Amino acid sequence: MSSVAIIGAGMGGLMAGNLLAGKGHKVTLFESHSMPGGYTAGFWRKGYYFESGTLSFEMSSQIFPAMRDIGVYDKIEFVRQIARWVSPDYDFVMHSMDDMKKSILKAYPSEKGRLLKYFAEVDRVCDIYRGLEKPNTFLNKITFPFRMSRFVNMVRKYGRMTSSEFAGLYFEKGSKVYYTFKDVGYPDMPAMIVPAAFMSFLDDYWTVKTGMQSWADVLAENFRKLGGELKLKSKVEKILTKEGAAIGVTCEGKDYMADYVLSASDYKKTFLDLLDNRSLLSNDFVEKMQNAAVSEGFFTVYLGLNISREKMQKYLKVPHILYGDCDPPGPDMGDATDERFFEKVWLSAYSPSLINEELAPKGKSSLMISCMVPFRWMNNWGGGDRKVYKELKEKAKRVLIKRFSSIVPDLEKHIEFEDAATPLTYERYTANSSGASSAWSWNPHKWFYKSPNVTKIDTPVKNLFISSCWAYEFGGIPTTIKAAYMCAERIT
Ligand SMILES: Cc1cc2nc3c(=O)[nH]c(=O)nc-3n(C[C@H](O)[C@H](O)[C@H](O)COP(=O)(O)OP(=O)(O)OC[C@H]3O[C@@H](n4cnc5c(N)ncnc54)[C@H](O)[C@@H]3O)c2cc1C
Repeated sequence: MSSVAIIGAGMGGLMAGNLLAGKGHKVTLFESHSMPGGYTAGFWRKGYYFESGTLSFEMSSQIFPAMRDIGVYDKIEFVRQIARWVSPDYDFVMHSMDDMKKSILKAYPSEKGRLLKYFAEVDRVCDIYRGLEKPNTFLNKITFPFRMSRFVNMVRKYGRMTSSEFAGLYFEKGSKVYYTFKDVGYPDMPAMIVPAAFMSFLDDYWTVKTGMQSWADVLAENFRKLGGELKLKSKVEKILTKEGAAIGVTCEGKDYMADYVLSASDYKKTFLDLLDNRSLLSNDFVEKMQNAAVSEGFFTVYLGLNISREKMQKYLKVPHILYGDCDPPGPDMGDATDERFFEKVWLSAYSPSLINEELAPKGKSSLMISCMVPFRWMNNWGGGDRKVYKELKEKAKRVLIKRFSSIVPDLEKHIEFEDAATPLTYERYTANSSGASSAWSWNPHKWFYKSPNVTKIDTPVKNLFISSCWAYEFGGIPTTIKAAYMCAERIT
């Protein structure tokens, strides 16, 4: 059996910890925060619960079996998440693809021809994805190569095309429909993910009824039961190496020796800040990593409201809303100098207390309003000047509250608690570079890995593996879990 030191108790570290401790390895999990979970976590303020990062997840076909594997599936209350799309032109709950098509076609009758072609192609790609999920019957085994070749052709066509380029094939640039579809998911993400995103929203969108923190807590408890040691408030300061191999970590000035080290935390910091011997890395690797673009960070407003659950239900209809109220052209995610950015960007609003009334004081409601933000907006939120930082944060908060008042009337008047997080806040709590929300940039013109479909746990340092979302180009809970499995398989 081996000894393993894991840096970070987010989903990647917790999952790897459970798998490895389950196999009988001696595992120590170091977490700098006082709570486990990383981005899969939450916090309470004045009786209101808010999510710290992810609100939902997709690809349950990978996540649920993983939770069963480590014996915790029945301890987590997974529930379906349903989203509503609202703009001045349409307003629908995403129950089915047909609901979406009908509402958008009704909103833009003059675009009918283009929309039908766009939807036909989205349907075709969805069909290709579904083809890969067929049960393992004799007939399906025979037809698998055909379905796989359709998938490979689709990846060739759309893997390196952005969502904007895909929307531009069907709609006039500058039209409202173009702006509706160009901004699905991450900015300029690969076109091949757009249909998958629709499918997930409609058929496979989940959350945890008792909040993401309860999920992390279950994983942490199970890890301890399996004999693992979880050290909270324990920031790893160094990864120790000898003769080109990782041999342990330093935490709070003390060395912890291990046969293997797993980084379940930020990729860039793992090598640029923690590794004790930079000469193990080639100059090319360091330069590529330093310059690599990361996924966009979020700005989030947290509100505790003296609004009853019933009223909130009436206003929101469902717990999660995607909200866009601005005319084209919308904001440019590449422009970090746009002072009016927050007036134009699509918003996501989520009420944890609509999922579960116990997540807010009796008779009250919680609400989170968030949006993606350009990388290092306004000189990285004031260039280090605390006063400017506070002013920018306050201004952005007020804009989002005002805009969302068209869904929740007099929102400002109902506030009992308010706070906000910038990408710098997310970075402070999780150490993810620039508050990256989902590992590397999703834009195919900026990828870090040559092939985005490969999970890469190996590093230039022997016995140091990546067990976080950063092992894959596109972060997310499913890809993080996959990295954890691969690390656990590698360690004997
Ligand atoms: C707003 C938002 C929305 C999202 N929505 C979705 C979604 O819909 N679906 C989806 O699948 N994913 C979503 N994600 C992404 C998903 O949450 C992450 O990809 C995933 O949780 C990453 O897990 P991780 O374990 O790799 O890293 P993290 O969760 O970042 O955990 C890393 C941990 O390492 C700790 N750490 C860092 N450095 C050190 C150190 N030196 N010493 C000790 N500990 C350290 C941190 O404190 C942290 O706890 C979203 C993320 C955000 C922010």
